[in-house]
Amino acid sequence: MPPIQRNSTRAVYAGDLQIGSDAAISVQSMCATSTTDVEATSAQANQLNDQGAGLVRIAVDSAKDADALAEIRKRTKARLVVDLQEHYRLAARVAPHVDKLRYNPGHLHHHERSRPMRDKVRELTEIAGQNDCAIRIGVNCGSVAPEYDERYPNDSIGAMVACAIDHCGYMDEIGFENFVVSLKDSDPAKVVEANRCFAAERPDVPLHLGVTEAGLLPFGEIKTRVAFEQLISQGIGDTVRVSLTLPNDRKHEEVLVGKSIVADIEAGRFRSVPDLSGLNIISCPSCSRVENERFVDLAENVRDLTRYAEAHDVTIAVMGCRVNGPGETDDADLGLWCGPRTVNVKRAGEKLGSYGYDEVLQVLKKELDQLIAVRETTL
Ligand code: SF4
Repeated sequence: MPPIQRNSTRAVYAGDLQIGSDAAISVQSMCATSTTDVEATSAQANQLNDQGAGLVRIAVDSAKDADALAEIRKRTKARLVVDLQEHYRLAARVAPHVDKLRYNPGHLHHHERSRPMRDKVRELTEIAGQNDCAIRIGVNCGSVAPEYDERYPNDSIGAMVACAIDHCGYMDEIGFENFVVSLKDSDPAKVVEANRCFAAERPDVPLHLGVTEAGLLPFGEIKTRVAFEQLISQGIGDTVRVSLTLPNDRKHEEVLVGKSIVADIEAGRFRSVPDLSGLNIISCPSCSRVENERFVDLAENVRDLTRYAEAHDVTIAVMGCRVNGPGETDDADLGLWCGPRTVNVKRAGEKLGSYGYDEVLQVLKKELDQLIAVRETTL
């Protein structure tokens, strides 16, 4: 198998890790432990690092998380990425302890609403520059900025790509080059199209690939392979993350699966012509923001409960919190997203209610049976 002709992206540095240009495709992962639990998060960061994660991401949503991150830094050799979502005002506090900052353009409008977006981006680049950090512009299907949804109604890929291109434009204006981009969706086909479209416009910018909320094994791996095989085999993709819903003691399997997918593609071993019709369970990989520790069990119970419906083209989304929960469950036939004490349930985007963790599965079963019955009568 001749070597893959990779896009000639620029070299970006997160600590001593090169991403892009002639660097090998690196594999990343993210801690699912509570960031304020310094012991558990340091242990998970080391677990992921020991298995070969080039970068380990940690969520920071508060000053308490930021202080904990400073402690975690002292207890791990892993290269760290901080996931800021909308909390860009914590960047200066965490940048000295990490190698990369990830922000989600779809959440930057939540704070300082009258302040221009490019100002907020400029602030992030200044802080990154002062602390020798790389930046990831992390666009996610479940949280695209409202202005792009308005500009691209019913065209989520157009909205994601336009958002990423605009933010690259801000970086160019500022003259900041140490950044990568990601465009993630829970649908592998949309991941392929969005990254192809972006790479066609900005072949110079390194790409972080991932199928968001790919879910439980084995389907989480299969969905990810579908996208990665089609992109990496065409030279698109410089670093990857496999988002799997796993118990904390098995989180390192994300790295192992990621490494095996990249190795297979580079060796020309392609597997992904799977039949993805039938029941599709989308679930997030969990992180420090998870609203209730029972999330992974809930996702696994949903899988086990719904096996009888595998032949039906139904999408069920199970999300850990309000960050991507509401958005991601909008596109599913049935959606669950976790709250601290209850689980919110949606049917085709319409909220049905909030239910206790011990009763939500019965609610889901009733809704699923009704959905299947309605579809069978309209066949
Ligand atoms: S949906 Fe929430 S809990 Fe799940 S990975 Fe995203 S931010 Fe974390």
